[in-house]
Amino acid sequence: MAENKASEKREGLESGNRYDAIVIGTGMGGSACGALLAKHGFKVLILEKNPRIGGSCSYYEKDGFKIDMGTHMFIRGNKGPFGTCTRRLGMGTPLEFIRTRNIAWLRGFNVDARVPSNVFLMPIFIGRVLVQSGFPLRLIPNVMRMFYDILKMPPEKIEEWDGRTIEEFMAQYTEEPFVHALIGFLLGLYFILPPWQASAGESIWNFQRFVYDSSLGYPKGGAVAIPATFLKGAEMHGAKVMTNAGVTKIMVEDGKVAGVVVKDKDKFYAPVVVSTTSLRDTVFKLAGSQYFPKSYVNRVEKIKSSFIAVQAKIGLKKKVTDVGCVCGSYPRKRSQKDISLEEMKKIFKNLEEGKLLSYTPIYCPIPSNFDPDLAPPGRQLLTACAVAPTTDIELQDDPKAWIDDMLTALYDLVPGAKENAIFVDTFSVEAMANWIGKTSGAAVTTGQTPDQVGVNRPGHRTPVSGLYICGDGAGSRGVGTELACQSGMDCADLIFNDWRNYLI
Ligand SMILES: Cc1cc2nc3c(=O)[nH]c(=O)nc-3n(C[C@H](O)[C@H](O)[C@H](O)COP(=O)(O)OP(=O)(O)OC[C@H]3O[C@@H](n4cnc5c(N)ncnc54)[C@H](O)[C@@H]3O)c2cc1C
Repeated sequence: MAENKASEKREGLESGNRYDAIVIGTGMGGSACGALLAKHGFKVLILEKNPRIGGSCSYYEKDGFKIDMGTHMFIRGNKGPFGTCTRRLGMGTPLEFIRTRNIAWLRGFNVDARVPSNVFLMPIFIGRVLVQSGFPLRLIPNVMRMFYDILKMPPEKIEEWDGRTIEEFMAQYTEEPFVHALIGFLLGLYFILPPWQASAGESIWNFQRFVYDSSLGYPKGGAVAIPATFLKGAEMHGAKVMTNAGVTKIMVEDGKVAGVVVKDKDKFYAPVVVSTTSLRDTVFKLAGSQYFPKSYVNRVEKIKSSFIAVQAKIGLKKKVTDVGCVCGSYPRKRSQKDISLEEMKKIFKNLEEGKLLSYTPIYCPIPSNFDPDLAPPGRQLLTACAVAPTTDIELQDDPKAWIDDMLTALYDLVPGAKENAIFVDTFSVEAMANWIGKTSGAAVTTGQTPDQVGVNRPGHRTPVSGLYICGDGAGSRGVGTELACQSGMDCADLIFNDWRNYLI
């Protein structure tokens, strides 16, 4: 019944370059939003500036390998927003998420242990980490109480913690720097932010889902299988998808959105435009800040993003490990006595000042261990990254040094990688920023800091009537891709309701 209303409205519109809604971008946010809008009965045009769809989850092909542009693992599989989206599109659950026997291999802080996928083997893993890291035994009751509180925390309490940091949350249980380093980084890893910048409420919400859903994995067909499936659903519901169609302007007339200009020449009209580039680029580059109230512009100017990473894609002539992902830091041999909170803060201060880090954290998913079809028979694909500043921070060292540090760390953490490499493709932060079209290149453009999550997260509506934001820049909760997908769905539902209520 509700769907008829949007369809009725669209009958009044001319065909050709007029649409009910235009969506900018085909990453997780844009593809989920565009598909659900089409399902709601809107006549939808989805525009992508790149020759291939997928944004951060896009891919390229080389020597028989299918290689992710980004560096991804997916927390909740079909139990999270991806499954919700395909089910809502009437597609069932076509995405297949795969798990390896050992989902990760942790190497660093003197730890060298494989993380089993089977939860019943978890106590053995935890015991090994405690022994290898020299974890102070006297702290175990406090840490156990902390994890118990995290896992049992009700939603209203989580909301209370939204506005405070992980560091503040941990301080209730212990001030021990080693615990802050180990657990803070584990929780902060979700958002590519340190524990004194990441929201505690957001971390707790995500950690609960990580544990209860127990679905960390990777999709058959590579990361791009997810947005590609959503876009298939979009087309099934009548949406049109155009690639090589970069939006150069969002047209605003009389305080309302009127449509977009593609490549400075082609105009497409719609009373609704959804942007999935960063909020800042939407306001300053595409629409123009003159159309927004000063207070809104001031807020957008102050938005803090997460950090980002330099990346490497390495094709190997043989399999060197069977784990799903390698996570660690180089140099590996650092005892708990070497770790102080001051040192951790210094490392992040260096990052904020564009200086090289004194140790290199590495995150290296191995897609071909989940789906062997992503590499030629017998070969292996590594996709690695190491944290780096966003492009708005001037690098104090040679940009190549960031790549060299990542490769040195990676070759130490993944034995055999260097000797067996067929190719090593490296990507600077600028390269990724150019691909996704987000000026700072951040992994999450509106970072999950205490003042930017929950009720304080920028909303999907903007002060320009008909202009909406989704993806990792506005709305919802979750880790990276799942945050963007949920945001896309929430935005589509909001637009549908605004339309039903004659607000647009
Ligand atoms: C190195 C790295 C590692 C990460 N690791 C993980 C992880 O392990 N797990 C996880 O869940 N998340 C991870 N993330 C975060 C995650 O990739 C992003 O948060 C998420 O994919 C963002 O989705 P999005 O739809 O908001 O934006 P994007 O995927 O960036 O899509 C935006 C799209 O808009 C298009 N576009 C931009 N401007 C225009 C324009 N003017 N005209 C037309 N099209 C335009 C872009 O080309 C792009 O396709 C990682 C990110 C990076 C970079």
